[in-house]
Amino acid sequence: MALRVEHDIFVVRQRGREVAAAVGLEHQDQVRLATALSEVARDLLRVVGGADVTFAVDLEAYGPSQVRVDLAPMRPLPDGRYEPHSGAVARLVDMLGVVHREGDTVVRMSRRVPANAQALTLERLAELRTELGNSAPGSALDELALQNEQLVSALDEVRSQRDELAVLNEELQETNRGVMALYNQLTEELEETNRGVVALYAELDEKSAQLGTASESKSRFLANVSHELRAPVTAIIGLSRLLADSASDPLTDEQAQQVGLIRSSATDLLGLVNELLDLAKAESGRLEPNWTEVDLRAVFGQLRGTMRALSTKPDVELVVEDPPPPGTVRCDEVLLAQVLRNLLHNGLKFTDRGEIRLWAEIRDERWWLSVSDTGAGIAPELHERIFEEFYQVPGSTRIGGTGLGLPYSRRVVRLLGGTLELTSEPGRGSTFTVTLPARGA
Ligand code: ADP
Repeated sequence: MALRVEHDIFVVRQRGREVAAAVGLEHQDQVRLATALSEVARDLLRVVGGADVTFAVDLEAYGPSQVRVDLAPMRPLPDGRYEPHSGAVARLVDMLGVVHREGDTVVRMSRRVPANAQALTLERLAELRTELGNSAPGSALDELALQNEQLVSALDEVRSQRDELAVLNEELQETNRGVMALYNQLTEELEETNRGVVALYAELDEKSAQLGTASESKSRFLANVSHELRAPVTAIIGLSRLLADSASDPLTDEQAQQVGLIRSSATDLLGLVNELLDLAKAESGRLEPNWTEVDLRAVFGQLRGTMRALSTKPDVELVVEDPPPPGTVRCDEVLLAQVLRNLLHNGLKFTDRGEIRLWAEIRDERWWLSVSDTGAGIAPELHERIFEEFYQVPGSTRIGGTGLGLPYSRRVVRLLGGTLELTSEPGRGSTFTVTLPARGA
């Protein structure tokens, strides 16, 4: 088509819309393409005195086809460039710009044909070309009327979009109000919970202070009572030994047996009193470790000697391994030996067959000193209970003891900066492990 005079703008616009409709662009897009075309046509008429307008379709093997309009200007474009008068024009089509075509410079615009449009084939294009060729271009007035109609429907659409927007806005505000209400409610609940938690903490602090005082009084009481008991019990043991002495007046068999009972009961009692005193001392913080560089090999050697003497069961073997180098730990020798003796003693007490083994390892900068046995083992739910004062596993009480050895040992180990833990399964023996920092607490 030739674009030479003002009237041609209408015709080009009309043709643009017809071509757009023919290839299957939606109504909105037809108007967009026609509007962009008439704007560009107006610009080119003004600036370069008109153009030759070509409508074309680019068929794509893959992806959507494009409807394309090339406007070859009558005179060269100033600086070879084209900027639409109104910037909004470029947004009406997918592409608008200057391209070079076989030595010519043309202004080109294109728009994608929607995927749901009737498929464009060469035959179909020939058909469309004939149809469009047959339809006579309408008058400028017709085009104006149509343009007005399109304007009205565009305005309608804008209005309905604005109404929709208003509804959406209203809904958004409603949602916002809901969210704010929820937020306020949550904030209130959170504050309420916080107040509760603060009150609970205050109560806990108070309770733990009370517990601390109670535990202190208990330790003081135990220390005093056991201290007071030690002297008379020691006296009873001494006196019963005197009574049974061969240098004293002879006793009847009956009397000798009863004196023997008194002595063994008093000895048990002294054991208990001593353990209580130890525990009370450890709990009250009056036990102060004597920190020295302790030679573990010497400690183990001593335990090997003294504990062998206590191991009287024929089917039980006591094995004390040599600790690996460097073999020293900063610690209190007497307290450490006491703890290990306690654990070995328990092992011997609660094992009828197999072995009791003491060994040492260094791992993660700590000493791991373990005492394992092949005894009855301890059920998992009792692993912590046996560290409670006076607790003895039901059934094990007949073997004797006070239930104070483990709680005391754990306190002492903690005082030395370490831990005392147990791994055990019923029927598979037990392993008590003391860990100590290799370089001291
Ligand atoms: P005691 O040995 O004087 O009873 P402890 O505090 O040393 O007190 O031990 C508490 C209880 O833990 C023991 O009575 C026993 O029931 C259980 N126990 C401790 N060591 C072992 C062990 N090696 N094997 C099985 N049970 C054990």
